[in-house]
Amino acid sequence: MIAIKDLSKWYGDFQVLAECSTEVAKGDVMVICGPSGSGKSTLIKTVNGLEPFQKGEIIVDGTSVGAKNTNLSALRARIGMVFQNFELFPHLSVRENLTLGQVKVLGRSQDEANAKGLQYLDRVGLLAHQDKYPNQLSGGQQQRVAIARALAMDPIAMLFDEPTSALDPEMINEVLDVMVGLAQEGMTMMVVTHEMGFARKVANRVVFMDKGRILEDCSKDEFFGAPRSERARDFLARII
Ligand code: ATP
Ligand code: MG
Repeated sequence: MIAIKDLSKWYGDFQVLAECSTEVAKGDVMVICGPSGSGKSTLIKTVNGLEPFQKGEIIVDGTSVGAKNTNLSALRARIGMVFQNFELFPHLSVRENLTLGQVKVLGRSQDEANAKGLQYLDRVGLLAHQDKYPNQLSGGQQQRVAIARALAMDPIAMLFDEPTSALDPEMINEVLDVMVGLAQEGMTMMVVTHEMGFARKVANRVVFMDKGRILEDCSKDEFFGAPRSERARDFLARII
């Protein structure tokens, strides 16, 4: 469903991605990890066209992301993205956050958008909070709303960039639980995270990056059992 081929990207003369290639099949849960600055966020953002790139190719469900005639807004509407810092619209209620994109981007009626939004809000356990504003919610709750908002768009895949790293420890699991549920239902996911418990539980692939390169791209058993690169072994030794 997502194919990344020989992807390279530079900021000026600094190469942030170097010949990255990998594939995500339908239903795959890929965990991407690696040291700070290794290019994880950049890689994931190139997938839905948030970051341009100079070389290589990314194909998402048959659409070439880098091609000139690709409609990036249409592509983004089909891929859910959840960031580290919950990017809810602060001036909109939870319900309005859930419906805005559905109405504006997908052209759904307000009623339909409400019904769908509330269905997903219920799923993340926050139906009772629909009239609140983001600043009246905890970080974990905001992040669950952000996930519900993305799901209400009926995405073909979900991208997560360290969705729990800005959360207080006691809120991490409530977000991870939602993500585990999604994974178990077969959602196609690319997840940048250092939550190795999550990786062990639901990942079927682990990618390890260092200095813009994909050094490991393997099953979780291979990754946790015997990573090939020394960098990955060091990394694992430090975070587990
Ligand atoms: P972290 O774990 O800290 O989130 P990361 O693996 O997500 O790190 P990226 O954010 O993808 O790393 O950044 C990769 C490298 O690219 C870093 O060295 C960063 O400083 C650099 N970089 C990121 N954005 C820009 C930019 N807009 N201009 C120049 N360099 C950038
Ligand atoms: Mg990052």
